[in-house]
Amino acid sequence: MIEYAVVGSGIGGSSIAAYLDAKGHKTVLFEKEPYLGGCSSTFEHAGFSYNTGATTLAGYEEGHIVKSHFDALRLNPDLIRTDPAIVIIQNGKTTPRFSDFESFLGVLEKNYPHPKNREFWMLIHDLGREFYTIHGHYYSNRDSWRKLISLTSFLPMLVKFQRYLRTNAYDFIQDFYGDISEEYLHFLEAQIFIVAQAHSREINFFTAALSLGYTFNETHYVPGGFGALFDKMTENMKDVRRNTEIHKIERNTDHFTLHTKDKIIKARKVILNSTVYDSGKLFDDGMVKNYYKKYETLNNHQSSFMLYMTIKSTKQYEHHYQLIQEEMYPHAISNAVFVSFSDAADNVFCGKGHYSITASIHTDSRWWNDKGTYKDQKEKLKSQMLKSICDILDINEIQIVHLFAATPRSFKRYINRSQLGGNAITMKNFLPKLPANDTPIKGLYHVGDTVYAAQGWPGVMLGVDNLKRLLHV
Ligand SMILES: Cc1cc2nc3c(=O)[nH]c(=O)nc-3n(C[C@H](O)[C@H](O)[C@H](O)COP(=O)(O)OP(=O)(O)OC[C@H]3O[C@@H](n4cnc5c(N)ncnc54)[C@H](O)[C@@H]3O)c2cc1C
Repeated sequence: MIEYAVVGSGIGGSSIAAYLDAKGHKTVLFEKEPYLGGCSSTFEHAGFSYNTGATTLAGYEEGHIVKSHFDALRLNPDLIRTDPAIVIIQNGKTTPRFSDFESFLGVLEKNYPHPKNREFWMLIHDLGREFYTIHGHYYSNRDSWRKLISLTSFLPMLVKFQRYLRTNAYDFIQDFYGDISEEYLHFLEAQIFIVAQAHSREINFFTAALSLGYTFNETHYVPGGFGALFDKMTENMKDVRRNTEIHKIERNTDHFTLHTKDKIIKARKVILNSTVYDSGKLFDDGMVKNYYKKYETLNNHQSSFMLYMTIKSTKQYEHHYQLIQEEMYPHAISNAVFVSFSDAADNVFCGKGHYSITASIHTDSRWWNDKGTYKDQKEKLKSQMLKSICDILDINEIQIVHLFAATPRSFKRYINRSQLGGNAITMKNFLPKLPANDTPIKGLYHVGDTVYAAQGWPGVMLGVDNLKRLLHV
Protein backbone atom coordinates (compact mmCIF):
# COMPACT_ATOMS: atom_id res chain seq x y z
CA MET A 1 0.00 0.00 0.00
CA ILE A 2 1.27 3.48 -0.79
CA GLU A 3 1.55 6.02 2.00
CA TYR A 4 0.54 9.18 0.12
CA ALA A 5 -1.55 9.41 -3.04
CA VAL A 6 -1.29 12.96 -4.36
CA VAL A 7 -4.06 13.71 -6.85
CA GLY A 8 -3.09 16.50 -9.23
CA SER A 9 0.27 17.99 -10.17
CA GLY A 10 -0.36 21.72 -9.84
CA ILE A 11 2.00 23.87 -7.75
CA GLY A 12 0.54 22.35 -4.58
CA GLY A 13 0.43 18.70 -5.69
CA SER A 14 3.86 18.57 -7.32
CA SER A 15 5.55 20.44 -4.49
CA ILE A 16 4.22 18.30 -1.66
CA ALA A 17 4.63 15.04 -3.63
CA ALA A 18 8.28 15.79 -4.46
CA TYR A 19 8.94 16.72 -0.84
CA LEU A 20 7.31 13.60 0.64
CA ASP A 21 9.12 11.38 -1.85
CA ALA A 22 12.45 13.04 -1.06
CA LYS A 23 11.80 12.43 2.65
CA GLY A 24 11.44 8.70 1.95
CA HIS A 25 7.65 8.38 2.09
CA LYS A 26 6.12 6.04 -0.46
CA THR A 27 4.31 8.59 -2.61
CA VAL A 28 2.55 8.47 -5.96
CA LEU A 29 1.65 11.61 -7.94
CA PHE A 30 -1.35 11.23 -10.24
CA GLU A 31 -2.03 13.72 -13.04
CA LYS A 32 -4.86 13.40 -15.54
CA GLU A 33 -2.97 15.31 -18.26
CA PRO A 34 0.24 14.30 -20.04
CA TYR A 35 1.94 17.44 -18.71
CA LEU A 36 2.45 18.55 -15.09
CA GLY A 37 1.63 21.91 -13.51
CA GLY A 38 -2.13 22.52 -13.96
CA CYS A 39 -2.68 26.30 -14.22
CA SER A 40 1.11 26.72 -14.25
CA SER A 41 1.82 24.12 -16.92
CA THR A 42 3.04 24.36 -20.51
CA PHE A 43 1.20 22.63 -23.35
CA GLU A 44 1.53 22.17 -27.10
CA HIS A 45 -1.09 23.10 -29.66
CA ALA A 46 -0.53 22.42 -33.37
CA GLY A 47 3.22 22.25 -32.74
CA PHE A 48 3.40 25.55 -30.80
CA SER A 49 4.18 25.74 -27.08
CA TYR A 50 2.26 27.90 -24.63
CA ASN A 51 2.17 28.57 -20.92
CA THR A 52 -1.33 27.66 -19.78
CA GLY A 53 -1.86 30.47 -17.26
CA ALA A 54 0.91 31.36 -14.85
CA THR A 55 3.97 33.03 -16.36
CA THR A 56 5.63 34.79 -13.40
CA LEU A 57 7.53 33.04 -10.64
CA ALA A 58 7.38 35.26 -7.55
CA GLY A 59 9.01 34.37 -4.24
CA TYR A 60 12.22 32.76 -5.43
CA GLU A 61 14.60 34.78 -3.28
CA GLU A 62 16.40 34.39 0.05
CA GLY A 63 14.00 34.27 2.99
CA HIS A 64 10.94 33.59 0.84
CA ILE A 65 8.77 30.56 0.91
CA VAL A 66 9.28 29.38 -2.69
CA LYS A 67 13.08 29.44 -2.42
CA SER A 68 13.04 27.67 0.96
CA HIS A 69 10.95 24.86 -0.51
CA PHE A 70 13.11 24.53 -3.63
CA ASP A 71 16.21 24.51 -1.42
CA ALA A 72 14.72 21.72 0.70
CA LEU A 73 14.37 19.69 -2.52
CA ARG A 74 17.86 20.71 -3.64
CA LEU A 75 16.15 22.14 -6.68
CA ASN A 76 18.23 24.78 -8.36
CA PRO A 77 16.12 25.88 -11.31
CA ASP A 78 17.37 27.67 -14.36
CA LEU A 79 15.65 31.09 -14.14
CA ILE A 80 15.86 34.51 -15.75
CA ARG A 81 15.34 37.53 -13.51
CA THR A 82 12.46 39.72 -14.70
CA ASP A 83 12.84 43.40 -13.93
CA PRO A 84 10.53 45.21 -14.43
CA ALA A 85 8.22 42.47 -13.18
CA ILE A 86 5.45 43.95 -15.27
CA VAL A 87 4.89 46.97 -17.51
CA ILE A 88 1.55 48.70 -17.07
CA ILE A 89 0.12 50.64 -19.97
CA GLN A 90 -2.87 52.89 -19.43
CA ASN A 91 -4.02 55.77 -21.69
CA GLY A 92 -0.64 55.83 -23.43
CA LYS A 93 1.26 56.04 -20.11
CA THR A 94 3.81 53.32 -19.59
CA THR A 95 4.74 52.43 -16.00
CA PRO A 96 7.33 49.69 -15.53
CA ARG A 97 7.11 48.08 -12.08
CA PHE A 98 10.85 48.05 -11.39
CA SER A 99 11.89 46.23 -8.23
CA ASP A 100 14.05 49.23 -7.31
CA PHE A 101 11.85 51.60 -5.31
CA GLU A 102 13.32 54.89 -6.59
CA SER A 103 13.30 53.80 -10.24
CA PHE A 104 9.63 52.85 -9.97
CA LEU A 105 8.68 55.97 -8.05
CA GLY A 106 10.42 58.20 -10.60
CA VAL A 107 8.19 56.92 -13.42
CA LEU A 108 5.08 56.85 -11.23
CA GLU A 109 5.55 60.51 -10.31
CA LYS A 110 5.72 61.46 -13.97
CA ASN A 111 2.62 59.46 -14.92
CA TYR A 112 0.46 59.91 -11.80
CA PRO A 113 1.95 62.80 -9.79
CA HIS A 114 0.76 63.16 -6.18
CA PRO A 115 2.47 64.51 -3.03
CA LYS A 116 1.47 61.37 -1.12
CA ASN A 117 2.94 58.88 -3.61
CA ARG A 118 6.24 58.32 -1.82
CA GLU A 119 4.62 57.71 1.56
CA PHE A 120 2.00 55.40 0.06
CA TRP A 121 4.41 53.23 -1.90
CA MET A 122 6.91 53.12 0.97
CA LEU A 123 4.13 51.69 3.11
CA ILE A 124 3.37 49.07 0.44
CA HIS A 125 7.05 48.24 0.17
CA ASP A 126 7.54 47.91 3.95
CA LEU A 127 4.40 45.86 4.60
CA GLY A 128 5.54 43.30 2.03
CA ARG A 129 8.99 43.05 3.62
CA GLU A 130 7.59 42.74 7.16
CA PHE A 131 5.04 40.07 6.25
CA TYR A 132 7.71 37.58 5.22
CA THR A 133 9.67 38.08 8.45
CA ILE A 134 6.78 36.73 10.55
CA HIS A 135 6.88 32.98 11.01
CA GLY A 136 5.17 30.38 13.15
CA HIS A 137 1.56 30.85 12.01
CA TYR A 138 -0.35 27.84 10.73
CA TYR A 139 -3.95 26.89 10.03
CA SER A 140 -5.78 23.65 10.79
CA ASN A 141 -9.35 22.58 10.12
CA ARG A 142 -9.15 19.09 11.61
CA ASP A 143 -11.58 19.91 14.45
CA SER A 144 -12.83 22.99 16.30
CA TRP A 145 -10.19 22.79 19.03
CA ARG A 146 -7.24 22.48 16.64
CA LYS A 147 -8.70 25.25 14.51
CA LEU A 148 -8.94 27.59 17.49
CA ILE A 149 -5.41 26.88 18.63
CA SER A 150 -4.08 27.37 15.10
CA LEU A 151 -5.87 30.70 14.81
CA THR A 152 -4.09 31.97 17.91
CA SER A 153 -0.82 31.53 15.99
CA PHE A 154 -1.89 34.51 13.87
CA LEU A 155 -2.15 36.84 16.87
CA PRO A 156 1.30 38.42 16.44
CA MET A 157 0.40 39.18 12.83
CA LEU A 158 -3.03 40.54 13.77
CA VAL A 159 -1.52 42.81 16.38
CA LYS A 160 1.27 44.05 14.12
CA PHE A 161 -0.89 44.77 11.10
CA GLN A 162 -4.28 45.42 12.73
CA ARG A 163 -4.50 48.95 11.38
CA TYR A 164 -4.35 47.64 7.83
CA LEU A 165 -6.59 44.63 8.41
CA ARG A 166 -9.57 46.57 9.77
CA THR A 167 -10.36 48.73 6.76
CA ASN A 168 -11.21 47.80 3.22
CA ALA A 169 -8.52 48.76 0.74
CA TYR A 170 -10.71 51.15 -1.24
CA ASP A 171 -11.55 53.30 1.81
CA PHE A 172 -8.00 53.13 3.12
CA ILE A 173 -6.57 54.36 -0.20
CA GLN A 174 -9.18 57.15 -0.47
CA ASP A 175 -8.44 58.30 3.09
CA PHE A 176 -4.71 58.07 2.61
CA TYR A 177 -4.57 60.14 -0.55
CA GLY A 178 -7.45 62.49 0.25
CA ASP A 179 -8.07 63.12 -3.44
CA ILE A 180 -7.35 60.57 -6.12
CA SER A 181 -8.08 60.48 -9.85
CA GLU A 182 -10.28 57.80 -11.41
CA GLU A 183 -7.39 56.93 -13.69
CA TYR A 184 -4.96 56.30 -10.84
CA LEU A 185 -7.60 54.32 -8.98
CA HIS A 186 -8.01 52.06 -12.04
CA PHE A 187 -4.23 51.73 -12.18
CA LEU A 188 -4.17 50.45 -8.59
CA GLU A 189 -7.35 48.40 -8.95
CA ALA A 190 -6.11 46.44 -11.97
CA GLN A 191 -2.91 45.46 -10.16
CA ILE A 192 -4.77 44.47 -7.01
CA PHE A 193 -7.22 42.33 -8.99
CA ILE A 194 -4.60 40.16 -10.74
CA VAL A 195 -2.97 39.17 -7.45
CA ALA A 196 -5.72 39.29 -4.81
CA GLN A 197 -8.40 38.08 -7.27
CA ALA A 198 -10.80 40.56 -5.69
CA HIS A 199 -11.53 44.27 -5.91
CA SER A 200 -10.28 46.84 -3.41
CA ARG A 201 -13.72 47.25 -1.82
CA GLU A 202 -13.83 43.52 -0.99
CA ILE A 203 -10.43 43.10 0.65
CA ASN A 204 -8.56 44.67 3.54
CA PHE A 205 -5.71 47.06 2.87
CA PHE A 206 -3.10 44.56 4.03
CA THR A 207 -4.02 42.08 1.28
CA ALA A 208 -4.06 44.92 -1.23
CA ALA A 209 -0.61 46.03 -0.07
CA LEU A 210 0.84 42.54 -0.57
CA SER A 211 -0.75 42.47 -4.04
CA LEU A 212 0.60 45.87 -5.06
CA GLY A 213 4.01 45.17 -3.57
CA TYR A 214 4.96 41.79 -5.05
CA THR A 215 6.92 43.55 -7.80
CA PHE A 216 9.37 44.94 -5.21
CA ASN A 217 10.47 41.34 -4.71
CA GLU A 218 12.39 39.31 -7.22
CA THR A 219 10.34 37.81 -10.02
CA HIS A 220 11.56 35.27 -12.53
CA TYR A 221 10.89 33.89 -15.97
CA VAL A 222 11.17 30.12 -16.42
CA PRO A 223 13.08 29.22 -19.61
CA GLY A 224 11.66 26.36 -21.66
CA GLY A 225 8.13 27.11 -20.43
CA PHE A 226 6.71 27.10 -16.92
CA GLY A 227 6.10 23.37 -17.13
CA ALA A 228 9.88 22.78 -17.17
CA LEU A 229 9.89 23.69 -13.50
CA PHE A 230 7.51 20.84 -12.64
CA ASP A 231 9.47 18.31 -14.70
CA LYS A 232 12.59 19.34 -12.79
CA MET A 233 10.85 19.37 -9.41
CA THR A 234 9.58 15.82 -9.84
CA GLU A 235 12.48 14.30 -11.81
CA ASN A 236 13.80 12.32 -8.83
CA MET A 237 10.39 11.04 -7.78
CA LYS A 238 9.97 7.30 -8.03
CA ASP A 239 6.34 7.21 -9.15
CA VAL A 240 4.70 9.94 -11.24
CA ARG A 241 1.70 8.76 -13.21
CA ARG A 242 0.74 11.12 -16.02
CA ASN A 243 -2.42 10.61 -18.12
CA THR A 244 -3.96 9.07 -15.00
CA GLU A 245 -7.18 10.60 -13.79
CA ILE A 246 -8.59 9.56 -10.44
CA HIS A 247 -12.31 9.03 -11.03
CA LYS A 248 -13.44 7.88 -7.63
CA ILE A 249 -12.15 7.59 -4.06
CA GLU A 250 -13.56 5.34 -1.33
CA ARG A 251 -12.87 5.83 2.34
CA ASN A 252 -12.09 2.71 4.38
CA THR A 253 -11.20 2.44 8.08
CA ASP A 254 -7.46 2.79 7.71
CA HIS A 255 -6.95 3.60 4.03
CA PHE A 256 -8.48 5.02 0.85
CA THR A 257 -9.15 3.18 -2.42
CA LEU A 258 -8.53 5.24 -5.53
CA HIS A 259 -10.02 4.28 -8.89
CA THR A 260 -8.48 5.15 -12.22
CA LYS A 261 -10.18 4.03 -15.45
CA ASP A 262 -8.56 0.59 -15.21
CA LYS A 263 -6.81 0.30 -11.83
CA ILE A 264 -7.50 0.30 -8.12
CA ILE A 265 -4.85 1.77 -5.81
CA LYS A 266 -4.76 1.73 -2.03
CA ALA A 267 -3.26 4.59 -0.07
CA ARG A 268 -3.08 5.39 3.64
CA LYS A 269 -3.42 9.12 3.04
CA VAL A 270 -4.78 11.16 0.17
CA ILE A 271 -3.72 14.70 -0.71
CA LEU A 272 -6.07 16.32 -3.19
CA ASN A 273 -4.88 19.11 -5.45
CA SER A 274 -8.28 19.39 -7.14
CA THR A 275 -10.33 22.42 -6.04
CA VAL A 276 -12.64 22.21 -3.02
CA TYR A 277 -15.47 22.79 -5.50
CA ASP A 278 -14.63 19.74 -7.60
CA SER A 279 -13.28 17.32 -5.00
CA GLY A 280 -16.65 16.25 -3.53
CA LYS A 281 -17.53 14.61 -6.88
CA LEU A 282 -14.77 12.07 -6.32
CA PHE A 283 -16.58 10.58 -3.31
CA ASP A 284 -19.91 8.81 -2.78
CA ASP A 285 -19.37 9.03 0.98
CA GLY A 286 -21.94 11.37 2.60
CA MET A 287 -19.59 12.68 5.30
CA VAL A 288 -16.96 13.72 2.77
CA LYS A 289 -19.54 15.21 0.41
CA ASN A 290 -20.98 17.28 3.26
CA TYR A 291 -17.56 18.60 4.12
CA TYR A 292 -17.10 19.97 0.61
CA LYS A 293 -20.69 21.21 0.36
CA LYS A 294 -19.94 23.63 3.18
CA TYR A 295 -17.51 25.48 0.95
CA GLU A 296 -19.71 25.76 -2.14
CA THR A 297 -20.71 29.29 -1.17
CA LEU A 298 -17.08 30.41 -1.40
CA ASN A 299 -17.08 29.71 -5.13
CA ASN A 300 -17.01 33.12 -6.79
CA HIS A 301 -17.08 31.47 -10.26
CA GLN A 302 -14.22 33.70 -11.31
CA SER A 303 -12.31 32.31 -14.23
CA SER A 304 -10.11 33.25 -17.18
CA PHE A 305 -10.51 33.75 -20.89
CA MET A 306 -7.26 33.11 -22.72
CA LEU A 307 -5.66 34.15 -25.95
CA TYR A 308 -2.63 32.13 -27.02
CA MET A 309 -0.54 33.28 -29.96
CA THR A 310 2.81 32.93 -31.61
CA ILE A 311 4.18 35.94 -33.44
CA LYS A 312 7.21 36.52 -35.62
CA SER A 313 8.97 39.67 -34.51
CA THR A 314 12.38 41.25 -34.16
CA LYS A 315 11.08 43.77 -31.64
CA GLN A 316 12.26 43.51 -28.00
CA TYR A 317 9.34 42.86 -25.68
CA GLU A 318 9.31 42.83 -21.89
CA HIS A 319 8.11 39.60 -20.27
CA HIS A 320 4.80 40.90 -18.90
CA TYR A 321 2.38 43.72 -19.66
CA GLN A 322 -0.88 44.78 -18.14
CA LEU A 323 -2.98 46.78 -20.57
CA ILE A 324 -5.66 48.85 -18.86
CA GLN A 325 -8.47 50.43 -20.83
CA GLU A 326 -11.41 52.58 -19.72
CA GLU A 327 -14.16 50.17 -20.70
CA MET A 328 -14.85 46.63 -19.55
CA TYR A 329 -14.25 43.98 -22.20
CA PRO A 330 -17.35 42.12 -23.46
CA HIS A 331 -18.11 38.90 -21.55
CA ALA A 332 -15.32 39.73 -19.11
CA ILE A 333 -15.27 41.13 -15.59
CA SER A 334 -12.29 43.36 -16.11
CA ASN A 335 -10.98 46.28 -18.13
CA ALA A 336 -7.42 44.96 -18.09
CA VAL A 337 -5.60 42.29 -20.08
CA PHE A 338 -2.45 40.57 -18.81
CA VAL A 339 -0.03 39.69 -21.62
CA SER A 340 3.11 37.57 -21.20
CA PHE A 341 5.84 37.09 -23.80
CA SER A 342 8.40 34.32 -23.96
CA ASP A 343 12.00 35.47 -23.57
CA ALA A 344 13.49 36.45 -26.95
CA ALA A 345 16.46 34.14 -26.35
CA ASP A 346 14.36 31.19 -25.15
CA ASN A 347 14.52 29.14 -28.32
CA VAL A 348 13.70 25.91 -26.53
CA PHE A 349 10.24 27.24 -25.80
CA CYS A 350 9.68 29.16 -28.99
CA GLY A 351 11.44 29.28 -32.40
CA LYS A 352 14.14 31.88 -33.05
CA GLY A 353 12.66 35.25 -33.98
CA HIS A 354 9.29 34.25 -32.51
CA TYR A 355 7.43 34.95 -29.28
CA SER A 356 4.95 32.67 -27.55
CA ILE A 357 2.28 34.86 -25.96
CA THR A 358 -0.16 33.97 -23.20
CA ALA A 359 -2.82 36.65 -22.64
CA SER A 360 -5.65 36.47 -20.12
CA ILE A 361 -8.62 38.39 -18.79
CA HIS A 362 -10.99 37.62 -15.91
CA THR A 363 -14.42 36.30 -16.74
CA ASP A 364 -17.28 34.47 -15.01
CA SER A 365 -17.34 30.72 -15.64
CA ARG A 366 -21.16 30.64 -15.64
CA TRP A 367 -21.31 32.84 -18.74
CA TRP A 368 -19.79 30.11 -20.90
CA ASN A 369 -22.32 27.32 -20.36
CA ASP A 370 -24.87 28.26 -23.01
CA LYS A 371 -24.03 26.39 -26.20
CA GLY A 372 -26.17 28.81 -28.21
CA THR A 373 -24.11 31.88 -27.38
CA TYR A 374 -20.73 30.29 -26.68
CA LYS A 375 -19.18 30.66 -30.14
CA ASP A 376 -20.25 34.28 -30.66
CA GLN A 377 -19.09 35.34 -27.20
CA LYS A 378 -15.76 33.63 -27.71
CA GLU A 379 -15.22 35.34 -31.06
CA LYS A 380 -16.20 38.75 -29.71
CA LEU A 381 -13.91 38.69 -26.67
CA LYS A 382 -11.11 37.13 -28.68
CA SER A 383 -11.20 39.87 -31.32
CA GLN A 384 -11.43 42.68 -28.74
CA MET A 385 -8.44 41.33 -26.83
CA LEU A 386 -6.50 40.81 -30.01
CA LYS A 387 -7.20 44.34 -31.18
CA SER A 388 -6.06 45.90 -27.89
CA ILE A 389 -2.91 43.79 -27.73
CA CYS A 390 -1.96 44.49 -31.36
CA ASP A 391 -2.74 48.23 -31.14
CA ILE A 392 -0.98 48.88 -27.84
CA LEU A 393 2.00 46.58 -28.29
CA ASP A 394 2.45 47.41 -31.95
CA ILE A 395 1.91 43.96 -33.40
CA ASN A 396 0.79 43.73 -37.01
CA GLU A 397 -1.72 40.93 -37.60
CA ILE A 398 0.44 39.54 -40.43
CA GLN A 399 3.10 38.76 -37.80
CA ILE A 400 0.76 36.26 -36.12
CA VAL A 401 1.65 32.73 -37.14
CA HIS A 402 -0.68 30.90 -34.75
CA LEU A 403 -3.57 32.00 -32.59
CA PHE A 404 -6.42 30.50 -30.63
CA ALA A 405 -8.62 31.30 -27.63
CA ALA A 406 -9.65 29.22 -24.63
CA THR A 407 -12.55 29.67 -22.22
CA PRO A 408 -13.43 28.45 -18.72
CA ARG A 409 -14.84 25.36 -20.45
CA SER A 410 -11.42 24.58 -21.91
CA PHE A 411 -9.93 24.71 -18.41
CA LYS A 412 -12.63 22.33 -17.19
CA ARG A 413 -11.92 19.88 -20.01
CA TYR A 414 -8.17 19.82 -19.51
CA ILE A 415 -7.38 20.51 -15.87
CA ASN A 416 -10.72 19.69 -14.33
CA ARG A 417 -11.60 23.12 -12.95
CA SER A 418 -13.34 26.24 -14.20
CA GLN A 419 -13.02 28.41 -11.08
CA LEU A 420 -9.57 29.93 -11.40
CA GLY A 421 -7.51 32.05 -9.09
CA GLY A 422 -8.70 30.16 -6.03
CA ASN A 423 -10.37 31.51 -2.94
CA ALA A 424 -9.84 35.20 -2.55
CA ILE A 425 -9.30 36.21 1.07
CA THR A 426 -11.87 38.98 1.42
CA MET A 427 -13.45 41.03 4.23
CA LYS A 428 -16.33 38.51 4.19
CA ASN A 429 -14.36 35.31 3.64
CA PHE A 430 -11.40 35.42 5.97
CA LEU A 431 -9.44 32.71 7.65
CA PRO A 432 -11.79 30.81 9.99
CA LYS A 433 -14.25 30.49 7.10
CA LEU A 434 -11.72 29.16 4.62
CA PRO A 435 -10.73 25.52 4.14
CA ALA A 436 -7.32 24.44 5.41
CA ASN A 437 -4.82 21.87 4.21
CA ASP A 438 -6.22 19.26 6.57
CA THR A 439 -9.84 18.16 6.88
CA PRO A 440 -11.97 16.54 9.59
CA ILE A 441 -11.75 13.32 7.54
CA LYS A 442 -8.88 11.20 8.85
CA GLY A 443 -6.13 10.87 6.25
CA LEU A 444 -7.64 13.37 3.77
CA TYR A 445 -5.65 16.51 2.97
CA HIS A 446 -5.63 19.32 0.42
CA VAL A 447 -3.21 21.65 -1.33
CA GLY A 448 -3.81 24.28 -3.95
CA ASP A 449 -5.24 27.74 -4.41
CA THR A 450 -8.77 27.04 -3.12
CA VAL A 451 -7.46 26.15 0.34
CA TYR A 452 -5.13 28.02 2.69
CA ALA A 453 -3.33 30.31 1.73
CA ALA A 454 -4.77 31.25 -1.66
CA GLN A 455 -3.41 31.63 -5.15
CA GLY A 456 -0.19 31.95 -7.12
CA TRP A 457 3.23 30.55 -6.24
CA PRO A 458 3.62 32.33 -2.88
CA GLY A 459 0.02 31.60 -1.79
CA VAL A 460 -0.01 27.92 -2.73
CA MET A 461 3.49 27.39 -1.28
CA LEU A 462 2.41 28.87 2.06
CA GLY A 463 -0.25 26.14 1.99
CA VAL A 464 2.34 23.48 1.15
CA ASP A 465 4.41 24.66 4.09
CA ASN A 466 1.34 24.53 6.31
CA LEU A 467 0.60 21.00 5.13
CA LYS A 468 4.16 19.85 5.91
CA ARG A 469 3.61 21.07 9.45
CA LEU A 470 0.21 19.39 9.78
CA LEU A 471 1.63 16.10 8.46
CA HIS A 472 4.68 16.39 10.75
CA VAL A 473 7.03 15.73 7.83
C1 LIG B 1 -4.59 32.89 -16.44
C2 LIG B 1 -3.83 32.70 -15.16
C3 LIG B 1 -2.64 33.36 -14.96
C4 LIG B 1 -1.92 33.20 -13.77
N1 LIG B 1 -0.71 33.81 -13.62
C5 LIG B 1 0.04 33.54 -12.52
C6 LIG B 1 1.39 33.99 -12.45
O1 LIG B 1 1.91 34.61 -13.39
N2 LIG B 1 2.10 33.69 -11.33
C7 LIG B 1 1.56 32.97 -10.29
O2 LIG B 1 2.24 32.73 -9.29
N3 LIG B 1 0.29 32.51 -10.37
C8 LIG B 1 -0.47 32.76 -11.46
N4 LIG B 1 -1.72 32.24 -11.56
C9 LIG B 1 -2.26 31.46 -10.44
C10 LIG B 1 -1.63 30.09 -10.39
O3 LIG B 1 -1.46 29.60 -11.68
C11 LIG B 1 -2.52 29.14 -9.60
O4 LIG B 1 -2.92 29.71 -8.38
C12 LIG B 1 -1.78 27.83 -9.31
O5 LIG B 1 -1.10 27.37 -10.45
C13 LIG B 1 -2.76 26.79 -8.82
O6 LIG B 1 -2.06 25.67 -8.37
P1 LIG B 1 -2.79 24.48 -7.66
O7 LIG B 1 -1.81 23.82 -6.78
O8 LIG B 1 -4.07 24.96 -7.07
O9 LIG B 1 -3.11 23.42 -8.82
P2 LIG B 1 -3.87 23.51 -10.21
O10 LIG B 1 -3.15 24.43 -11.10
O11 LIG B 1 -5.33 23.69 -10.03
O12 LIG B 1 -3.61 22.04 -10.75
C14 LIG B 1 -4.38 20.96 -10.34
C15 LIG B 1 -3.96 19.76 -11.16
O13 LIG B 1 -4.72 18.63 -10.73
C16 LIG B 1 -5.09 17.86 -11.86
N5 LIG B 1 -6.28 17.09 -11.50
C17 LIG B 1 -7.48 17.59 -11.09
N6 LIG B 1 -8.34 16.59 -10.81
C18 LIG B 1 -7.66 15.43 -11.02
C19 LIG B 1 -8.02 14.06 -10.89
N7 LIG B 1 -9.24 13.68 -10.48
N8 LIG B 1 -7.08 13.12 -11.20
C20 LIG B 1 -5.83 13.49 -11.60
N9 LIG B 1 -5.46 14.79 -11.75
C21 LIG B 1 -6.36 15.74 -11.46
C22 LIG B 1 -5.33 18.89 -12.95
O14 LIG B 1 -5.26 18.33 -14.25
C23 LIG B 1 -4.22 19.91 -12.66
O15 LIG B 1 -3.04 19.59 -13.35
C24 LIG B 1 -2.44 32.38 -12.75
C25 LIG B 1 -3.65 31.69 -12.95
C26 LIG B 1 -4.33 31.83 -14.15
C27 LIG B 1 -5.60 31.05 -14.36
